[in-house]
Amino acid sequence: MKTCYLCGGDIEQRVVEVEVEGVVVKNVPAEVCTQCGEKYFKTKIATFIQKVTSYINERKKEYFADVF
Ligand SMILES: [Zn+2]
Repeated sequence: MKTCYLCGGDIEQRVVEVEVEGVVVKNVPAEVCTQCGEKYFKTKIATFIQKVTSYINERKKEYFADVF
């Protein structure tokens, strides 16, 4: 069984919500430490989260450009 890098606790498969730049992304598969709650993502998922982050940041830029 996998253990947490931070506290050595047990890791279990879960579906979690990830908050990216204030936006909640639901149903994200992750491995979560049952002890400290640290989340671990597979490369594919981490890439997806990165894409969402840059998408949101791009939209933010557009939004602020409109406002000011
Ligand atoms: Zn932990």
